[in-house]
Amino acid sequence: TGDYVWLDHKTGREFDVPVGAVVKLCDSGQIQVLDDEGQEHWIFPQNATNIKPMHPTSIHGVQDMIRLGDLNEAGILRNLLIRYNEHVIYTYTGSILVAVNPYQLLPIYTADHIRLYTNKKIGEMPPHIFAIADNCYFNMQRNNKDQCCIISGESGAGKTESTKLILQFLAAISGQHSWIEQQVLEATPILEAFGNAKTIRNDNSSRFGKYIDIHFNKRGAIEGAKIEQYLLEKSRVCRQAPDERNYHVFYCMLKGMAPEMKAKLGLGLATDYSYLTMGNCTECDGRNDLREYSSILSAMKVLMFTETEIWEISKLLAAILHMGNLRFEARTYDNLDACVVVRSPDLVTAASLMEVEPKDVMVCLTTRTLITRGESVTTPLSMNQGLDVRDAFVKGIYGRLFVWIVDKINAAIYRPPSCESSLIRRSMGLLDIFGFENFFVNSFEQLCINFANENLQQFFVRHVFKLEQKEYNLEDISWQHIEFTDNQDALDMIANKPMNIISLIDEESKFPKGTDATMLYKLNSQHKLNCNYIPPKNSYETQFGIQHFAGVVHYESRGFLEKNRDSLHTDIIQLVHSSRNKFIKQIFQADVAMGVETRKRSPTLSSQFKRSLEMLMRTLSVCQPFFIRCIKPNELKKPMVSVAEQLEAEMLGLSINEKKERRTKTKISCVFTINSPNGARPFKKIAFIKGKRYKRFFHLEEVVFELYRNLTHLAKLQWKPFFSY
Ligand code: ATP
Ligand code: MG
Repeated sequence: TGDYVWLDHKTGREFDVPVGAVVKLCDSGQIQVLDDEGQEHWIFPQNATNIKPMHPTSIHGVQDMIRLGDLNEAGILRNLLIRYNEHVIYTYTGSILVAVNPYQLLPIYTADHIRLYTNKKIGEMPPHIFAIADNCYFNMQRNNKDQCCIISGESGAGKTESTKLILQFLAAISGQHSWIEQQVLEATPILEAFGNAKTIRNDNSSRFGKYIDIHFNKRGAIEGAKIEQYLLEKSRVCRQAPDERNYHVFYCMLKGMAPEMKAKLGLGLATDYSYLTMGNCTECDGRNDLREYSSILSAMKVLMFTETEIWEISKLLAAILHMGNLRFEARTYDNLDACVVVRSPDLVTAASLMEVEPKDVMVCLTTRTLITRGESVTTPLSMNQGLDVRDAFVKGIYGRLFVWIVDKINAAIYRPPSCESSLIRRSMGLLDIFGFENFFVNSFEQLCINFANENLQQFFVRHVFKLEQKEYNLEDISWQHIEFTDNQDALDMIANKPMNIISLIDEESKFPKGTDATMLYKLNSQHKLNCNYIPPKNSYETQFGIQHFAGVVHYESRGFLEKNRDSLHTDIIQLVHSSRNKFIKQIFQADVAMGVETRKRSPTLSSQFKRSLEMLMRTLSVCQPFFIRCIKPNELKKPMVSVAEQLEAEMLGLSINEKKERRTKTKISCVFTINSPNGARPFKKIAFIKGKRYKRFFHLEEVVFELYRNLTHLAKLQWKPFFSY
C-alpha cells in the first residue's frame, strides 16, 4: 500500500500509454489502485502483468528529464503532469526547455526572478525560461559566438509569450533603459496588431513566422535588432472560419479611433463589415480592443511612424473594409457570364481613400484586359471571378502593407554594423515560427509551413546528434551505433533533389498552360516510387500525401498554382499606378516598376519562401542553438481543468467556476474524437451526456462547418471512442 506503479490498462484512447497509479489496497492477491486521473481499478492476480513498479524518480518528478529512471513516453508525460499540477511549468530535458502553457499569469517573471536567474549555470536554479535566456546571453559573451533560440510548439502552446519573456529578460540585463531597447520591445505590439488574430486555437494567434535578431555591442548592451517575417496568412483578410476574427488591428481601429477621424474614413462598427464578420465573432474575451488601439499608436510613434504614415495606413485599412462590402450582380453579355458592381457609398469611399476613380475600380473588378499580338482585348469577368479579383486585390494591399510595416520597424531598430563594430558585435536570434500543421484540409500554405518544420527538425536532429557525438568522443566511446531518425530523404524530395516537389510546383506555375491537375500528374510521375510520397488513390483523387517527420499529411492540390503564383492582374497594377495616393503607390512600388513581362517572371511564393528559409538555416547554422519546446495542456485555452469538466460546464452553459461552485458531478458518458480521414490528428471531440436533456452533439456547428468545408470527406470520417466515464 502506498507504492507507486505504472498501470497499463488498454483504454482505447488515442495515445494509449501506461498511467501512474498508487496502490490503495493489497488484499489476498487483489490490488486496488488509484490512477493519476482519479480513477480506481481492481487488479486481479492473473492481470498482474498490467502493473509495473515505478522508478523512484517518477514518483515526485524531476527537474531534468534526463534523470528519469523510466525514460519513456509515460514517464515524460507523468513528469510534466505532476509538475504542472503544482504550477511548475518549466522542465529541462538536458539543455532543451519544455514549457507547458499555464493559461494564467504566474508570479514567476518579476524583477526578483530576473535577478535570481542572472549569471547562473543551467541547473543551478529550477528550470525557467530566464535561465535559457541568461545562458544564451552569457554564452554569446563568453564564447564570442552568435546564439539562437528555436521556439517550437503547436498553435497556442506559448511560443510568442516565450519570445516576449526572453526579450523582457534581455532588455533587463542589457540594462541601459535605452531608447533602442524600448524600440525593440515596442515592435511586438505593432507586429501583433497587424499579424495576429483570434483563432479557435488561440485568442492571439500569430499568423506569420518571425525571426528577431538582437544585436549587442561589446559591453553586452542591446544596440539594435532586425526582424525577418515569413508567410503572413493573407486569406484571413477576406475570410475567417466560425468563431475566428480578422487581424486585431481592424477591430482596434474601429473601437479606438476618434469619431471625427472615423467619419473621415466613412467607418462604422465592426459588425458593419463583411470582412470582419465571416466568423460571426467581432469581440474577443480577455482582449480590450479600445485600450489596445492606443498602445498600437504609441508603439508606432516609438518606432518613428509619422502621423501622416499612420493616417495613410488607416486609410488603406478602411479602404479594405469598404471593398469587402461591395455587392456584385451577375449579368450576361453576348452569352458570356459577366457582372457589375452595384453602385454604393462603399465603392465611392473605397475609391476616394485609394485616390482612384470609382469607375476605374468598377472596370477593374468586372473585366480583364488581355494583350495578344499587340492588341488589347477586354473580356468580362463572371461574378465569381469578379469577387476573386476583389479579394486578390485586398490581400495584395494587406500583404504589402504588412511587409512595409516590418521594413519601417527595421528602419528604426536596425543599425548596419560599422566596420569596426562588425568584428565585436554579437547577436542572438529568437525564432517564433508556425509549428507543424495537419488540418482537415491542407493546402499550399501547409506545405510551406511543414517544409520549414522539416528543415528545423533536421537542424535539431543534427545538433543533438553532434552533441552526443562530442560527448562520446570525450568519453572515448565508439558512437557508430547511434541511430537517429533522419528526415534528409523527405527534405530532399521536397526541395533539394532535381525535380523536387517545390521545383515542379514552381515550374508548373510559370508554364502558361499549367493547371493544378497537370502539376499533380508531374508530381506523381516523378515521385510515385519514393517511399515518402503518397500518390492519389485514383485518377479522380486530387490529394497527394507526404510522409513528414511528424506524420503523413495529405495536401489538396486544387488551388496550389494560383496560391503559388500570388500575382495580381495587370489591370490592378494599372489601377494602383493611376492613383494619386503616394502611399499605396509606394507599397506597390516593386510591382509598378516591373513591366508586364518581368512581372510574369517574378518570383513565386514558394521560391521566395525557399530562399528566405535557406537564409534562415544559414544564419542558424553558425549560431549556438537553444531549443524551447512549448506544450499546450488542453484545447480549451484554460488553466488546470479536466477536459470532461470543461465540456460539461459548456454543455450546461456555465463558466468553469460556476460549475465548480455547484459541485455537479461530471455526467458526461463519453467523448468521441473524429479523426481526420488520413487517421492523423483528431480535429474535434464530441461529448454525449447521459440523460435526455443533454443528449446532443457538442459543438455541432463547428463539426458541421468542418464537414461543409470538405464534403468529399464526409463518408470517410472515422469515429473512435476517446474515453468514457
Ligand atoms: P500561435 O502559433 O497560434 O501563434 P503561440 O505558440 O505563439 O501560438 P501564444 O500566443 O504565445 O501561443 O500563447 C497563447 C496564450 O497562452 C497567450 O495569449 C497567453 O494567454 C497564454 N500563455 C502562453 N504562455 C504563457 C505564460 N508563460 N504565462 C501565462 N500565459 C501564457
Ligand atoms: Mg504566436
